[in-house]
Amino acid sequence: MTFYILTLFPEMIGQALHTSIIGKAQERGLLCIRTVNIRDYTKDKHQKTDDYPYGGGAGMVMQAQPIYDAYLAVTEQIGYRPRTIYLTPQGPTFTQTAAKEFAAEENLIFLCGHYEGVDERVLEEIVTDYISIGDYVLTGGELPAMVMVDAISRMVPGVLTNEASGASESFEGSLLEYPQYSRPKEWNGKKVPDVLMSGDHRKIEAWRREKSILRTKQYRPDLLGKADLTVREKAVYGAYDLDIKRKR
Ligand code: SAM
Repeated sequence: MTFYILTLFPEMIGQALHTSIIGKAQERGLLCIRTVNIRDYTKDKHQKTDDYPYGGGAGMVMQAQPIYDAYLAVTEQIGYRPRTIYLTPQGPTFTQTAAKEFAAEENLIFLCGHYEGVDERVLEEIVTDYISIGDYVLTGGELPAMVMVDAISRMVPGVLTNEASGASESFEGSLLEYPQYSRPKEWNGKKVPDVLMSGDHRKIEAWRREKSILRTKQYRPDLLGKADLTVREKAVYGAYDLDIKRKR
């Protein structure tokens, strides 16, 4: 899978995506992350890529022409117009479900805004998906693009060497993941729960399931209403109330 990141600050898309699991997946040829410097496509003799907003107001707006030409250079190279994401606080919030959906694409283009944003006309021309990473405003779209590339990459088959770890993580089945422990058996007076060292896989699974449900109920009760719980689990963990509230 190839990610094309259109940005005015390619140097920001660095280390974070070239180390650890995502870095290794690139070495193994599963992923390719290409940054495209929008400034390389400006026709302005002073290399300008932004200008004042029509109608007045604070800040600068990224102009349409360099973005469109950078986009065309990518689409000409790959031979079609792939899904193109504009990172914006105005979009719907990115989720694990969306990460899985995007992971099925062969190519994705990300457009990182800066300053006050981007000329609306080029957004209308090229963008297929408007996505926010949360209800706050950042200075640019580079960090959100990196967040999305990381989350999507993990869902590309083969990127996680242990596929099972993706399947049991938080948000699978609308539950948060159970607590994890590693060596030593005792640290700072705190012991690893006995059941995890019992070797009884059925009991371990049951313990983890219970912890997942309790954790979700405590930290994200909004998710529990959507979780795939059995009738017994709903009764035991008091999820009926949440379920009823959600349906109302
Ligand atoms: N004036 C814009 C508005 O009020 O909607 C905000 C512009 S913001 C300062 C500059 C750029 O940062 C945006 O064009 C977008 O690419 C990116 N950005 C900021 N917050 C974001 C968020 N929560 N999610 C995704 N992208 C964001």
